[in-house]
Amino acid sequence: MTIRNILRMGDPRLWQVALPVADFTTPALADLIADMFDTMHAAGGVGLAAPQIGVGLQVVIFGFESSERYPDAEAVPQTVLINPTITPLGKAEASDWEGCLSVPGLRGAVPRPARVRYQGYDPAGQPIDRTVDGFHARVVQHECDHLIGRLYPSRIRDFTRFGYTDVLFPELLK
Ligand code: ZN
Repeated sequence: MTIRNILRMGDPRLWQVALPVADFTTPALADLIADMFDTMHAAGGVGLAAPQIGVGLQVVIFGFESSERYPDAEAVPQTVLINPTITPLGKAEASDWEGCLSVPGLRGAVPRPARVRYQGYDPAGQPIDRTVDGFHARVVQHECDHLIGRLYPSRIRDFTRFGYTDVLFPELLK
């Protein structure tokens, strides 16, 4: 399919709230999802939200077996999640490093609910309902933030742990 241009922070389209998908059967939705995977894989990312390629719909993808960007992260199943909702479970928070293909070259330590339930639909319209923690919980929250016009820097509280990837993690970028 097509590798699409990824919008970068500063583009006003990244601040908009995405609309729910109304019809799961359209070729346009299938094309969008295929393009999102091509774009995410070409960029070496672990997740992508439709608004990052300028499409204001509630579609996110994520998942990987192993990642050069996040070498310590456990595998996350490859997932297409449409019209998602996220419910934090419990009060526990976890803080860990995040990057974003729309914020290239930077990483930040982001506090988020440690354990969440997420619900939504797959491209066939079948329900998805998972309870997750660890990096899986982090990546789904990060991607769904894109659907409400949030980028991870707006979630950072400790700005001493926000910086350029090659300064923070020189071993990551050889
Ligand atoms: Zn992102």
